[in-house]
Amino acid sequence: MNDKQPRIYIAGHNGLVGSAILRVLHAQGHTNIVTRSHAELELANQAQVRAFFQTEKIDVVYLAAAKVGGIHANNTFPAEFIFNNLMVQANVIHEAWRHGVRKLLFLGSSCIYPRLAPQPLREEYLMNGMLEPTNEPYAIAKIAGIKLCESYNRQYGTDYRSVMPTNLYGPGDNFHPENSHVIPGLIRRFHEAKVAKAAEVVIWGSGKPMREFLYVDDMATASVHVMQLAPEVYRAHTGTMLSHINVGTGEDTAIGELAALVAKTVGYTGRIVFDSSKPDGTPRKLLDVTKLTALGWSARMPLARGLQLAYQAYLSSLATLASPALPALPASVGTLSGEAAGVSLAWPQSVC
Ligand code: NDP
Repeated sequence: MNDKQPRIYIAGHNGLVGSAILRVLHAQGHTNIVTRSHAELELANQAQVRAFFQTEKIDVVYLAAAKVGGIHANNTFPAEFIFNNLMVQANVIHEAWRHGVRKLLFLGSSCIYPRLAPQPLREEYLMNGMLEPTNEPYAIAKIAGIKLCESYNRQYGTDYRSVMPTNLYGPGDNFHPENSHVIPGLIRRFHEAKVAKAAEVVIWGSGKPMREFLYVDDMATASVHVMQLAPEVYRAHTGTMLSHINVGTGEDTAIGELAALVAKTVGYTGRIVFDSSKPDGTPRKLLDVTKLTALGWSARMPLARGLQLAYQAYLSSLATLASPALPALPASVGTLSGEAAGVSLAWPQSVC
């Protein structure tokens, strides 16, 4: 064990964000980092989490393990979303406190904000209205995670912080045809449409809704930045009962523009058709990043470049797997048999 460096546990280090946080901490020269795969440690199991903290003598925790997915997954598996996320965060936060962990960063989501909150979404809009019903169980769990951190800070004097990311994308993303978020979903659809020489890709909705997207390495540097702020600086920008910080770019993009950018990145030259008969969801979803900016951090990765890197990562994952280990496209998105075929994308209107 290295005595000079804090002993850091990254929960969820194989995931999109956890793996990026690991890269950033390695780049900073941290060597005293502890990781466990899901197979090695079930974070929903309190006994296992207790034994882990007992043995490992952790100083600092990045809590990036969670059950995550787009609107389809949230709608199909609401019980799994609320149960797994509540259990994971309650176990990790409680056992971290019991075993003397002084600092912890909890990763929430922009889904915590009310469905009809004004835009851009400010931290203080939390719990000022009804949540989006499709991902309410996930959002409730995330709100509970923020409140766990605040409650342990109030009662036990811990320094547990929370960040609320906007929609993330990048290497390590989930390209599942039904459970993925909008950018990996578009990358996969346009790539498969290119390979199949499909004449058109149909996207549900008008293409007009505006959404915000943050490259995952930016999310990781923001997480480490927030975690490494002096306690008095963090406290000066947050409140005892309002302790979370939004993490985003502060800029949004129309879904139609995003689709065109992804098609260009992938090299798909067919038509992009928007099916306006399908629902659009909320017209705009953008985080207010005033607090994070005041704390000295801003996003760096331009969307066009981030999409190139994400597409390269997708191609590498296909090459590594040799055969497409990803599940086949479901029948409901259309066929890919020949020139005339189109591919439809039911994009998650209220991604979270
Ligand atoms: P990923 O699904 O990529 O990674 C989550 C990791 O957590 C996986 O490695 C998963 O392992 C692990 N995990 C889940 N449940 C358990 C469990 N019960 N025990 C042990 N390990 C578990 O998610 P992201 O990296 O995308 O998300 C990280 C955080 O950021 C989450 O809190 C998420 O809510 C938040 N966030 C993500 C956004 C995004 O766009 N991706 C947007 C906003 C917030 P396995 O896969 O083996 O189950």
